[in-house]
Amino acid sequence: MIDTVTTETESTEFQTDNLQRFIFDGIPVRGEWIHLSKSWQEVLNRRQYPQAIQNILGEMMAAAGLLAATVKIKGRLVLQIKSDGPVNLMMVECTSENTVRAFAQWEGDIADDISLEAMTGKGALAITIDVEGSKQPYQGLVGLNDDSIASMLETYFKQSEQLETRIWLAANEQSVAGLFLQQLPGENNNEEANEEDWIRLSQLAATITNEELLTLGAGTLLHRLYHEEHCRLLSLTDFNFACSCSRERVADTINLLGEADALDLVETQGEIEVACEFCNEHYHFDKVDVAQVFSANSTPELDSKTLH
Ligand SMILES: [Zn+2]
Repeated sequence: MIDTVTTETESTEFQTDNLQRFIFDGIPVRGEWIHLSKSWQEVLNRRQYPQAIQNILGEMMAAAGLLAATVKIKGRLVLQIKSDGPVNLMMVECTSENTVRAFAQWEGDIADDISLEAMTGKGALAITIDVEGSKQPYQGLVGLNDDSIASMLETYFKQSEQLETRIWLAANEQSVAGLFLQQLPGENNNEEANEEDWIRLSQLAATITNEELLTLGAGTLLHRLYHEEHCRLLSLTDFNFACSCSRERVADTINLLGEADALDLVETQGEIEVACEFCNEHYHFDKVDVAQVFSANSTPELDSKTLH
């Protein structure tokens, strides 16, 4: 067989904060590889997480990037676990501008060796796709029955999309990484050959170690796995950490409280302080700021808008 993961791609300098798509000539299987370092560091710089949460949140961050790349929409994809355990919320958001942000909420001490099940308790892993301009976001849910994020997502694709999918995820202090393989409906109707190809390609990928996922570039990794296959590297996507919170958005939230309640809060607390869960930015509104929020609200221009 022709070696199509060429030495040229292999020698390409290892670039992180990237997603690499790849395909196989003549085989209805698509693949993606993701590696995030800088954007992961941005998440960890903003909040200190217990080790067990850090691992899962990191895996979710790699997974969200992989999933976002499978949907071609303008908007955002949110991957979250909402549950009743000591870790009640873990959330990652990826936008079509390839920005990513993540955070987790928990109570009490979380042991390093706690299982995913004990950490989350009862709940669900939700995949929300919010297309810009559409009223109702799409939401897919999968129960927290499996012991890893990767296997939950494999179950989701099988149940909701009827697509065979294999996902490998890894996270450590420095980086998060993932590999994604999905069998697509074949056009050649040769189901037996397609099945054999799928099994071979996924078995080869299953030889990957977490260490390799976290330390090798896409070219080197895919060469190692698929040097006997016709594997072709497609486009590369850059990812960056970014948060969409702003002082204006916080002002909008204070506005929703109503003037009397907002002033009450300032009276009792001295100020209103709002922290963004994603980036940990703290916004402070004192009495003057709050008065401004509501005086801006009563300008004739805004009043005329609210009449419609
Ligand atoms: Zn923020």
